[in-house]
Amino acid sequence: MELRFGNLIFKIAQGDITRFKAEAIVNAANKYLEHGGGVAYAIAKAASGNVREYIRISKEAMMEQIGRDWIEHGEVVVTPALRLEQYGIKYVIHTVGPYCGGRWDEDKKEKLKKAILGALRKADELKVRSIAFPAISAGIYGCPFEEVVRTFLETVEEFSRGTENVREVYLVLYSRTDYERALEVLEEN
Ligand code: ADP
Repeated sequence: MELRFGNLIFKIAQGDITRFKAEAIVNAANKYLEHGGGVAYAIAKAASGNVREYIRISKEAMMEQIGRDWIEHGEVVVTPALRLEQYGIKYVIHTVGPYCGGRWDEDKKEKLKKAILGALRKADELKVRSIAFPAISAGIYGCPFEEVVRTFLETVEEFSRGTENVREVYLVLYSRTDYERALEVLEEN
C-alpha cells in the first residue's frame, strides 16, 4: 500500500525493521539512548550483537553530535549500521517520540511530528534515498496507534515538499494486526 506525495513515495509495510531493506532505519529511542526494550533493544542487538556496546556507541555519538547526554524531540543521533549493513542499511537514526500513556493531544502530536521530521531531515542531509520508521511512540510510550499513523502521513506529506534526496519512506509495522490497522487509516485518505 503506498501514497505518492510529489516525487516521494510513502509505503506501509509489515516486518522486522532490523532486516528491512532501506538505507536508513529509525530507532524509537528514549532521550538517553538506553535501548532497554522494544524496537530499540531489537535494533541494538541486531546491529552489534551486544546491546551494551551499542548503547556505548550511541551515547558517544550523542556527545559528539549533540554535545549533551540526552536529546530533545526533534534532535537525532546517527550511528553506524554495523551488522545491519548485510541488508543494505547504512545508518541508524535515533529519535525520541512523546510519552503518551494512552493520552493524545496537540502537544503529543507536535512532539511526534518533530521526532519524525528530525529523522527525515537528517536522512536527506546524509543523501539517503530510502528510510524506514517503526511506529514511534505506539509501543511502550502508549500513544494511540491510529493517531501515530495519521501523524506519520501528515508529516511525510509536509516533508515531501522540501526533500532533495529522500524518495521512499516506509512505516514498518511489526504485527499483522498493526499493519492492517495502518492500512485502514490510509484508506481514510
Ligand atoms: P516506544 O517506546 O516509542 O513506544 P517501542 O519500541 O515500545 O517504542 O514500540 C514502537 C513500535 O515498534 C511498536 O509498535 C512495536 O510493536 C514496534 N516494534 C517492536 N519491535 C520491532 C521490530 N523489530 N521491527 C519493527 N517494529 C517493531
